[in-house]
Amino acid sequence: MARFRDRTVVVTGGNKGIGYAIAERFAAEGANVVIASVEDNVEAAAARLRDTGANAMGVICDVTDRAAVVELYDRAEAEFGAVQISVQNAGIITISRIEDLSEQDWDATLAVNTKGAFLCCQEAIRRMRKSGQGGRLINIASGQAREGFIYTPHYAASKFGVMGLTQSLAKEVAPDAITVNAICPGIIKTDMWDYNDRVWGEMLGDYAPGELMQSWVENIPMKRAGEGKDVAALIAFLASPDADYITGQTINVDGGLIMS
Ligand code: NDP
Repeated sequence: MARFRDRTVVVTGGNKGIGYAIAERFAAEGANVVIASVEDNVEAAAARLRDTGANAMGVICDVTDRAAVVELYDRAEAEFGAVQISVQNAGIITISRIEDLSEQDWDATLAVNTKGAFLCCQEAIRRMRKSGQGGRLINIASGQAREGFIYTPHYAASKFGVMGLTQSLAKEVAPDAITVNAICPGIIKTDMWDYNDRVWGEMLGDYAPGELMQSWVENIPMKRAGEGKDVAALIAFLASPDADYITGQTINVDGGLIMS
């Protein structure tokens, strides 16, 4: 399938985890893929995509830094032409009791998860409007944009924020044929989940590594944790012509864990 041939896609946080799976999916469907992250291993991740025959580039970019975000889209355009699809996936989490939750953790979480999505959407929209060809923005929220979990008020606030950003922008840019949607992954096997399993596990009881995750997975109607490719499949759909008439939506991809 080459649904995205000649399309240029930016995926923030694309060097690993869910972001890399999204990049792989677009690469497999013929897109030019630009992945961005703060670690300098991002170019090595892009090289792995190129090894599969894809056009791919890695850019070091802290999504909280407006100048770096502008440079990300400049470099994407210079290499591959106009960006038609932008996936705001970069995210961080920390877990802590309210008395221990530092202002720094609050600010950093909102800065990456919410402001980072805002800056990327803003820059992408500016360029998509100028091109007059429409575009697709897909923001990665979380099950915690539906319901806050214990010990993560800052993360839940940041992801509820992503949902608000998505709905508001969707209304503003709909006349320009730009759609803006959000997705809420549930429990997906990545480094982030390893952290969650360890720290929530220590705080919520005497769980051995993997035990807490397993107990939560048992509550998923489909009885399995998700994988990056489960998320990537929904994103590919939202970026495709089949989703032309879908905007402002927030869709769960979680095996039925949350049904609202
Ligand atoms: P990972 O921790 O595996 O990956 C996070 C990615 O975000 C990394 O690529 C990281 O880059 C990047 N990143 C972090 N800070 C910045 C920054 N300031 N600028 C640019 N990139 C940054 O997480 P996941 O793959 O699990 O999560 C991806 C998204 O999905 C996140 O938004 C997360 O909140 C969300 N999510 C994940 C769930 C899960 O169960 N895994 C569930 C629900 C939502 P680097 O490696 O360079 O630090």
